[in-house]
Amino acid sequence: MSSELSNFFQSLSIQEEELEAWVTNLQPVFPMQEKPSCRRCDYKPKYRNTVSPHNPNGNAGRLYYICIKCKTDQDCEVSKTDHQKGWISWDDDRGVHPSNQNCDCGIVCRQDRAGENSSCPGRGFWTCATGSCGYSSYRKDGRTEEEAKDAKAAPDGGFEPWLF
Ligand SMILES: [Zn+2]
Ligand SMILES: [Zn+2]
Repeated sequence: MSSELSNFFQSLSIQEEELEAWVTNLQPVFPMQEKPSCRRCDYKPKYRNTVSPHNPNGNAGRLYYICIKCKTDQDCEVSKTDHQKGWISWDDDRGVHPSNQNCDCGIVCRQDRAGENSSCPGRGFWTCATGSCGYSSYRKDGRTEEEAKDAKAAPDGGFEPWLF
């Protein structure tokens, strides 16, 4: 084997562990290649929205998707998070970090922050990074209510988001 080739293989094996970490912590890509569908009613939004420049939550200019069907549907369950009704997802990687825990999709989740009109403004929470699954947690450790109950974990008091 030429030394060039063996160096190549050596460099590969060095990256193997790194590669494994990336494979086990799959990250979503933004902007999303395909418009996300609403996980509640499967509606695919026609447009992507931009947060107004006067947004009081520090989100001015951010791109996001909402489901207009759920937003206007009186019977639709209100989103579990503090986001507005019909919320689907941000279309950026803010709060998405390789060390975040996985959501039900098996990709790293997003850390987000409750807005000014929510019951607890500024409170951190975890959610699906692309809005594809119903994963949501207000615990610092990212456990869902059910997981915390199963593990008999005490309330962890919530958290201030730190990935912003
Ligand atoms: Zn919907
Ligand atoms: Zn998900």
